[in-house]
Amino acid sequence: MQPDEPSRWGADPWLGHYAQRAAGMVASEVRALFAVASRPEIVSLAGGMPNVSALPIDAVAALMADLVTERGQVALQYGSAQGDPSLRETICTVMAEEGIDAHPDDVVVTVGSQQALDLVARVFLDPGDTVVTEGPTYVTALGTFAAYQARAVHVAMDERGVLPEALAETFARLERAGRPAKLFYTVPTFQNPAGVTLAAERRLRVLEVCRRAKVLVLEDNPYGLLHLEGEPMRALRADAPADVVYLGSFSKTLAPGLRVGWALAPSAVRDKLVLAAESAMLSHSAFAQLAVDRYLRTQPWQEQLKAFREMYRERRDAMLDALEQRMPAGVSWTRPGGGFFVWVTLPEGLDSKAMLPRAVQARVAYVPGTGFYADGAGRRAMRLSYCYPPPERIREGVGTLAEVIGTELEL
Ligand code: PMP
Repeated sequence: MQPDEPSRWGADPWLGHYAQRAAGMVASEVRALFAVASRPEIVSLAGGMPNVSALPIDAVAALMADLVTERGQVALQYGSAQGDPSLRETICTVMAEEGIDAHPDDVVVTVGSQQALDLVARVFLDPGDTVVTEGPTYVTALGTFAAYQARAVHVAMDERGVLPEALAETFARLERAGRPAKLFYTVPTFQNPAGVTLAAERRLRVLEVCRRAKVLVLEDNPYGLLHLEGEPMRALRADAPADVVYLGSFSKTLAPGLRVGWALAPSAVRDKLVLAAESAMLSHSAFAQLAVDRYLRTQPWQEQLKAFREMYRERRDAMLDALEQRMPAGVSWTRPGGGFFVWVTLPEGLDSKAMLPRAVQARVAYVPGTGFYADGAGRRAMRLSYCYPPPERIREGVGTLAEVIGTELEL
């Protein structure tokens, strides 16, 4: 039996049957790129895959085997929709690194933070609702909001994160237009895709602006503990427990294949999220949850995080150095203090999407900026990630990209 081909039955015979919300479900540009970018001859600065090769694989394998032997009756059984109590406790100790004082009862374990995003959208967004978000923003969050038929409105950032005055003006404008914002979705620390961090002195102001406008903050923070200098940033949630739903993930600090993330929410919101989780998946994988809990309780995870940070620091430095050395005049870029991404802006007149086939032909891939906006902005921008290729490949890829841009400028 062959897989079904779209052309086999002519036009999709179920076309008239889909729910309206399915129209908002379209493949992201990033996903479409994966097939091309994974060809071995291409230096991919496109994907955001964490480098799990730095994990102590033998230790992880041993703890998983012990888990099945010692606690198979629990690990292989259904669990609660809210998540394993012991893991929820451990999650609170992880969040304490970012100044958050949380109770395990307020945590909901999810299938990656992506599911937490989906559950929040499910319980808050009606068709036509408005979500305010940074411009650019995380592409799959845009996909989630679109799937619930909500509208995303962007607010500009500079190198210190979102502009609080612009945020206040946007809320006021939406209020006047009779479409008040329901959520402010933000990746305040080492943002995907811009690599920008909301400065400490702006954080309270942003919270104040949201509180005044009565807009719930959705703080998505998968990269917070991958700071490449100094101490972790204090999370927004640490200073506004009643006004923030915080999303966390073990995808970047442990392994994305385990698909363990979480939401921390005020109690009434938490109850809704648990009910939504129940209808979405009954219960999370007990095995994955107990494995993460055991890892955090028995392995030196803070030391492991240091190893991840060292690896990513070397790669970030290789990328910034290569950009400095090789990029033609007029190209600018952000300088991330952590996370995975650098946001590059091309000179006036260039178009990163139109240029992509020529870059791929020259054997380098990136993600064009337009995918990170709901409104078609970002034509001159691109996202580069330094998380996956080794430093020498990063240098090679940036060098090739610089040549491609140089040729475009001569056209
Ligand atoms: N939010 C952001 C900003 C991300 O970059 C990602 C992963 N690319 C996610 C959420 C989802 O992560 P996961 O579901 O693996 O926890």
